[in-house]
Amino acid sequence: MQHFPAFFSLKDQPALIVGGGEVAARKLRLLRKAGAAVTVVAPRLNAEIAELAEAGAVAIIRRGFVAGDIRDQRLVFAATGRPDVDERVAEAAKAAGRPVNVVDRADLSSFVVPAIVERDPVVIGISTGGTAPLLASRLREAIERLLPSRLGRLAHFSDSFRSAVRGILPDAPARLRFWSRFFDGPVAAAVLAGDDGRARERMLTLVNSRAAAEPPQGSVAIVGAGPGDPDLLTLRALRLIQRADVVVYDKLVGPEILDYVRRDAERIYVGKSRGHHTRSQDEINALIAEQAQAGRRVVRLKGGDPFIFGRGGEEVEYLRGRGIAVEVVPGITAALGCAAVTGIPLTHRDHAQAVTLVTGQGSDGEPDLDWASLARLDQTLVIYMGVSAAGRIAARLIAHGLDAATPAAIVENGTLPNQRTVVGRVADIEALVRDHAIAGPAIIVIGSVAALADAAEALAPALAIAV
Ligand code: SAH
Repeated sequence: MQHFPAFFSLKDQPALIVGGGEVAARKLRLLRKAGAAVTVVAPRLNAEIAELAEAGAVAIIRRGFVAGDIRDQRLVFAATGRPDVDERVAEAAKAAGRPVNVVDRADLSSFVVPAIVERDPVVIGISTGGTAPLLASRLREAIERLLPSRLGRLAHFSDSFRSAVRGILPDAPARLRFWSRFFDGPVAAAVLAGDDGRARERMLTLVNSRAAAEPPQGSVAIVGAGPGDPDLLTLRALRLIQRADVVVYDKLVGPEILDYVRRDAERIYVGKSRGHHTRSQDEINALIAEQAQAGRRVVRLKGGDPFIFGRGGEEVEYLRGRGIAVEVVPGITAALGCAAVTGIPLTHRDHAQAVTLVTGQGSDGEPDLDWASLARLDQTLVIYMGVSAAGRIAARLIAHGLDAATPAAIVENGTLPNQRTVVGRVADIEALVRDHAIAGPAIIVIGSVAALADAAEALAPALAIAV
């Protein structure tokens, strides 16, 4: 081990920075976060340091460094960018027995500053012993992605219940069980999702009911998997998928996304397909509830966004009605995913002041829509589940006043490798569906913005565009 990892408390401790430029300012930010009483020695200060000095947040000695500046300091940074001065600082600090860091000069430093991931009060320091700073920053990025942004809040939250839990569970192993259940369970999930109110309520119940002795509580996350490309999952979706004990998924969730599920987790397919018994929504609700009640972390994975034609609302209602903890993680809905990859802006100052998402399927066949308002100009219409009814939908829109020459685009398997886009006029939609044998999940975009899909050719040359 090149360096000894340790976390110093610098609260109100004197610390010295030699240098007044951008690099010095960076160290100053860091030291101030740790609550140090910082002095900066420099003949010139950049705007940030000067402003902090004016506010009294940092003491300034406005001249060149002299060895006596080291006196009383607990920690010294040399950040002048001038090798001769930095060397003098290092020498003086070492002579006085003070830890010193010379920025970008591990050879002159007695300590190094690691790459830092911060979720205050959680801090992770990464050091490669000065061998590969870029590797350290890559690792930092990877860890950043892995850790929920509210991790620090979770630490504070658990801390606020520490003494209450100790009072109720004096037995250390029981306490350990309680906390490990806590961090895996719905209370922690609620904190990480930003729902402090619900978390506190549940925690009070948990603590008061001495629930540590009870079987673990399950939870459900209704997670949007996006339009298909696994890179379009949200970070939270990915985290939950990786932690799930069981994943209940629909037809639109592809194998690349399921690859993220833990190997030992159970996968339950509830989509429709030939040869499979199709489960009703009631059966799906009951299945999810049953899994959660058995103490498992359930991820209910849906294509796109769970609250856009995804029946997520019904599932939330059902589960909450049974007292099951449920959180919803939004996903990129098909309209947004397809718009981005085909270069169709859904709103545009010159073309569309509104966008409407509609379903092409009513609960029994054709949807009962307000065709007159959908046929209005100046808006974009995105029709989900509309391929089989495309001809009828177009006819109704035209009958209610929509110009038959209005541009329309069909995007099939948007964001997936087999994506196809066809562009034409609204009057030709049915023919386009037939001629191009559109069969996969597809959305229909109607409105003058659809004509801009041509620009997508430059973005993705593989697209089949027929005008
Ligand atoms: N909750 C989903 C929609 C489910 S309804 C979402 O937010 O996207 C299913 C319909 O979504 C399909 O019939 C199709 O119209 C649309 N859809 C889903 N994924 C798609 C994709 N990759 N490309 C085009 N349309 C898609």
